[in-house]
Amino acid sequence: MGQREPIDIEVPMLDLAAQRDSIRDELDLAVQRVLSSQRFILGPEVEAFEEALASYCGSRHAVGCGSGSDALLLALMAHGIGPGDEVLCPAYSFFATAGSVARLGATPVFVDIESHSYNMCPSDLRRAARSCSRLRAIVPVHLFGQTADLEAITALAEELGVALIEDAAQAIGACDFEGRRAGTRGALGCFSLYPTKNLGAAGDAGALLCDDDELAQRLRELRSHGEAERYLHDEVGINSRLDALQAAILRAKLPHLDAWTRARRENAGHYDDAFLDAGATRSDAPLLADRASGSLPLQVPWRAASPASHVFHQYVVRVPAEHRDLLREHLLKSGVATGVYYPLGLHQQRSFARENEVPRSLPATEAAARETLALPVFPELGRERREHVIDALLEYFAAV
Ligand SMILES: *Cc1c(COP(=O)(O)O)cnc(C)c1O
Repeated sequence: MGQREPIDIEVPMLDLAAQRDSIRDELDLAVQRVLSSQRFILGPEVEAFEEALASYCGSRHAVGCGSGSDALLLALMAHGIGPGDEVLCPAYSFFATAGSVARLGATPVFVDIESHSYNMCPSDLRRAARSCSRLRAIVPVHLFGQTADLEAITALAEELGVALIEDAAQAIGACDFEGRRAGTRGALGCFSLYPTKNLGAAGDAGALLCDDDELAQRLRELRSHGEAERYLHDEVGINSRLDALQAAILRAKLPHLDAWTRARRENAGHYDDAFLDAGATRSDAPLLADRASGSLPLQVPWRAASPASHVFHQYVVRVPAEHRDLLREHLLKSGVATGVYYPLGLHQQRSFARENEVPRSLPATEAAARETLALPVFPELGRERREHVIDALLEYFAAV
């Protein structure tokens, strides 16, 4: 075998060091403040972050917790969801969406996606709901940073009398069809503040949003072992408190989130223009492969009418399955990192084999898992690196 050249990554998927450098003093101050106080768990720093996040999103309460996965778990626990219950969630998402359901002994029932938005498909949702006998909740995910069709999904949740819990882990700051921020329409909204999310801590962190005072109190108890008063436990909760250090760092970063989102949108807009000019289509049109007519077998992300609906946690293109991994390899050779979110539908994961004793095919999910590729879209990308990504991608298609 020939020696492989080491590959220089010129364009990573994320450049957190660049983000840190841009706000270094603010971060240092935040960390110093916590170290001086020696208060590390919950406390005033966490309360101040919760207030800032609630106000940013337009929600009455925010409740900090240990991770996005825990936020989902706490949301389901607060609704008393447990063994035998069914929860509808999209088959195309990060594992935690369905993992949290299964963790409580409940059954995740998988819903196919819309192939243009990659979000939960309202008509497949209705079909899946009909197959349920103990349906308790619907958990839409705002995948890649774009809000799901909350108008249709909320209407169905109300009609069926089940809870709507939004997995907004990838969509902090995105707006829905009425301009409401992601995570504020359902009974509860769940956020991950994992370092690579649009608003990321320096470790694991998460939060929930809700408008209901009692529900917020219940969540505060559940995240501290169900403790209602010091050492008095009305129910069994979990240990999922937010660290003061993480809260202080998140407080320092939150005022910059809108500028970072604008930069993500600008990168996405430039990608769109370059690829559409070269003959690509949007993901609500057919994926073309007819190179002769000057078209490009590439789809750029579909966008809802409101430009605020997408915060581009990921910029995901779609190519015919036979090109996906080859394109990925070509980009890597050109120094461009990419991501595949996700290579399998959740209904295809071995861990959910029991839930899928009679495996149901979810064609839009399975196609997306074979055909999508995420390009670097992080705020600090800049014009030069963006152009390099565009050139490298078009170079691949010029040669096929
Ligand atoms: C990141 C993520 C989560 C889980 O968040 P963690 O903080 O990693 O536990 C849940 N759902 C979605 C859609 C995510 O992207």
